Amino acid sequence: MDTALRHALVREELFLHYQPLVSLTTGRVIGMESLLRWHHPKLGVISPATFIPLAEETGLIVAIGEWALKRSCRQAKILCDELGLELSVSVNLSPRQFEQSNLLEVIGGALSESKLPPRNLQLELTENTLMINSASNLEKLQQIRQLGARVAIDDFGTGFCSFSYLLQYPVDRLKIDQSFVMKAVTEPNAATVVRTIVAMSHHLGIKVIAEGVETPEHLRFLAQRKCDEAQGFYFSRPVPAAAFGAAVAAIHRMFDERKLLEEIRLA
Ligand code: C2E
Ligand code: MG
Ligand code: MG
Repeated sequence: MDTALRHALVREELFLHYQPLVSLTTGRVIGMESLLRWHHPKLGVISPATFIPLAEETGLIVAIGEWALKRSCRQAKILCDELGLELSVSVNLSPRQFEQSNLLEVIGGALSESKLPPRNLQLELTENTLMINSASNLEKLQQIRQLGARVAIDDFGTGFCSFSYLLQYPVDRLKIDQSFVMKAVTEPNAATVVRTIVAMSHHLGIKVIAEGVETPEHLRFLAQRKCDEAQGFYFSRPVPAAAFGAAVAAIHRMFDERKLLEEIRLA
């Protein structure tokens, strides 16, 4: 698997899918998350949940991550121009990548090569990444934001989270982990956690994204609790770039025809 993954980059077996990110205040698509896929010649398409941990272990994630970042910026710029929309792209950064001393150059390079405006790039880190690389975290986050890019904490609530991080580190968004979103409509305690994360974030001036929105009930719950943004299978699965425009159109139709936001506000 290790050797196969090593070859995957050069043989161009890696590719990206893009999942729409929707504003719950406007019902419009405002961006996308780029998600890695590996088309293994014998095993078919392999999930990142399987190969990212291996890539992280072997250090291959540094090269793979750089490729994904560059590709995502280029693709996002093309989609913005093609669709005439202001779209941001969220790219996942692994702990190994975040600790690289040339991280800033890599990000800056991806932005300048693609001509994607820096404000349209968001980097997703997990709480665990911030915990592992403690020494220069603050400086790195500040530098990323000085470039004009944004920072989001991914899978919020599942890692070794410490509220002191939120005081220490400048972040733009928290992504509530999908496990909370899925339980929120049936379990009162999960609902309380979601509501509390949203309230706390807003008081701190941080926006909240919910991931794993799969049903109209999830959407209604989140929108009523003033969650800012959402992504999930209810809107669209991650799709190839060529299918992104159609996914956007379908989401916009869904909001317009069903008057989803009006319905939620009245409820
Ligand atoms: P993540 O960053 O938390 O990405 C969200 C995952 O949830 C994606 O899985 C996405 O397909 C899935 N998802 C989205 N909406 C729904 C939904 O409504 N229901 C359910 N059940 N799942 C949903 P995916 O694509 O398999 O990626 C898994 C993880 O692999 C990502 O979690 C991320 O940690 C990692 N990953 C993916 N691409 C990259 C990358 O380019 N670099 C790095 N370092 N990690 C990546
Ligand atoms: Mg993510
Ligand atoms: Mg996540």
